[in-house]
Amino acid sequence: MTTRRISHEVHIGPHLVIGGSRPIAMQSMTTCSTMDTEGCVRQAIRIIEAGGELVRLTTQGTREAENLRPIREELNRRGYSHIPLCADVHFNPDVADVAAAIVEKVRINPGNYVDPARTFKHLEYTDEEYQAELHRLDGRFCRFLQICRRHGTAIRIGVNHGSLSDRIMSRYGDTPEGIVESCMEFLRIAEREEFPDVVVSIKASNTRVMVESVRLLCRQMEQEDMDYPLHLGVTEAGEGEDGRLKSAVGIGSLLLDGIGDTIRVSLSEEPECEIPVAAAILQAAGSRISKTEYISCPGCGRTLYDLPGTIRRIKEAIGRKAQADPRYRTLKIGIMGCIVNGPGEMADADFGYVGAARGKVSLYRGRQCVEKNIPEEEAVERLITLIETTLNKEQC
Ligand code: SF4
Repeated sequence: MTTRRISHEVHIGPHLVIGGSRPIAMQSMTTCSTMDTEGCVRQAIRIIEAGGELVRLTTQGTREAENLRPIREELNRRGYSHIPLCADVHFNPDVADVAAAIVEKVRINPGNYVDPARTFKHLEYTDEEYQAELHRLDGRFCRFLQICRRHGTAIRIGVNHGSLSDRIMSRYGDTPEGIVESCMEFLRIAEREEFPDVVVSIKASNTRVMVESVRLLCRQMEQEDMDYPLHLGVTEAGEGEDGRLKSAVGIGSLLLDGIGDTIRVSLSEEPECEIPVAAAILQAAGSRISKTEYISCPGCGRTLYDLPGTIRRIKEAIGRKAQADPRYRTLKIGIMGCIVNGPGEMADADFGYVGAARGKVSLYRGRQCVEKNIPEEEAVERLITLIETTLNKEQC
């Protein structure tokens, strides 16, 4: 069983807490212009209705930062005041200052917060030049932290592999060590300034680089006695099946290490499409259970009944029950084609449906066979009754 990495809680507005033992939060990002108030509000609502718990918006300049206010107000008016907004800021620390007074969280990118954008030209830094840039960063970031403190705004220090500064590249090259140091420079300042409301992320489009860098960041934070919560994501993952698999591999690997407090699945699709994928990844990793889990065999020459049809009927029946009673969403149900491997493979299921002989099915509660050799035509209904009776007894 995975032990979750210990992190401290960060409050993102009054209703969302990221880190600690809180459920791993799912978030997404709008894709329309932040000057398009109605478009952003509509997209944000679609994200929220899909299950998103935090909505991020591109915030290129001061105009966009100012326009976060009517977006926030309109969402409040339409009943979504409980969902925090995050401004996504690059290249201009003044924009981050404005946004911090309006929304609940601001993401900054260490690679371009005050350092000049990556030019690939200035790759030789003397110690003095290096320290001078660090000093400049320190002063500017401290001013931002003061604004965040005043407004109760959380921040994300979000490193992107593709936008490391020349300064970091000059010392570390394009390496996981450089990616991690880029983040640590900011965390050390936040730590010294006793500003705990920070979530950190390292993203890359290459899943190996992303996973390796995040693991290294966790080790480095531990060495320096820090426990900031982590946001996970694979950038530019693509779309369709490829994008989903890439995200599942990158995010899933870290979740299985016990790492991760919030996730975003980046897909080149409508933003609300990201949320069900995030939920499915969390479910598959056992990190956050939000729906009934089915353990079903692939079927083979031994299969004793119509496996796909039966799975569909059970899922439909349980789906209807789950709408009225959330306890159904916490169940694990095994559906196995035969007795050979069935009971063993579904050993951790709460209930099981196993082919016993041609046209005959046995039902299980945990590992115990409770109804043997019942006719296949009655079996789905009797499974549902068995689950219902058991849950009702537990309630008494
Ligand atoms: S559980 Fe039985 S039917 Fe299903 S794949 Fe295994 S052997 Fe085949």
